[in-house]
Amino acid sequence: MADKQGAACPQCGEVITPKPTRARKCPHCGVQLVVRQFQVMTKEQADAPPAFRSFDTYVSGVTFKNSDGSSRQDVIIDCKPKEQLQLIRDRENPRDRNAIKVCRANGDQLGFLSGEVAAKCAPRIEKGYIYVAFVKNIEEFERNERPMLGMNILVVAASPGVDVAGAWAYVESLGMKDWDAGGGGCMVLLAVIGAATWAVLAAAGLCS
Ligand SMILES: [Zn+2]
Repeated sequence: MADKQGAACPQCGEVITPKPTRARKCPHCGVQLVVRQFQVMTKEQADAPPAFRSFDTYVSGVTFKNSDGSSRQDVIIDCKPKEQLQLIRDRENPRDRNAIKVCRANGDQLGFLSGEVAAKCAPRIEKGYIYVAFVKNIEEFERNERPMLGMNILVVAASPGVDVAGAWAYVESLGMKDWDAGGGGCMVLLAVIGAATWAVLAAAGLCS
C-alpha cells in the first residue's frame, strides 16, 4: 500500500510515486536519495553516524574503596536495574590516562570502566561523544571466599551534538528483556547478608 502511495522526500516533502526501492534522485528537488531497511532517506542522513550506540560491559574495581574512604560495595548495593549512571573522564588518574569513572547521578563512585573499554571510549569523549551507562543487573561473586557484588552495565555513546536526554528512549527501544528487575541471586544475597552487615564488613575493611 505504501508503495502505491509513494513516499515523501525527506528533503522537500514532495511525494515520490512509486516509493523508491533503490538509490535515486528526488524528481522534485534533485537531492540524492538512498533506501535503508525500506526507509527512504537522503544520502547525507544515511551517511551520518547513528545518534546512539551501545555495548554491554561490567564495572571494574568494585571491591576497592574510593579515595574518600567510601565503599563501592555500599554504593552498588543501593543501585537499581535501569538506573542511569554517569561516566566521567578521570584525566588526572596516575594509573591510566584513559580512566573513566562509573558514578551514580549523585556522584557516588561504583568503580571504573575496564582499562580495555576505557582505551576505546576516552579518545571519543575527547572528540565530543557523550557517554552514559545504565545498570543492567547486579550479581554476586566471590573474592577471597567473601561474597562481593559486581555490576553489568549498558554503555551508551551519544554522537557529538546529540541531546543525551534521548538516551533513555534509545535504551527502552532495545527491549531490556534480559535486564534483571530484581528477584535474582543478588536479591537473595542482599537478604542474607543485609545492608547493615555490609556496613560492618566495610568498617572492618573487609569489603575494600
Ligand atoms: Zn525532494
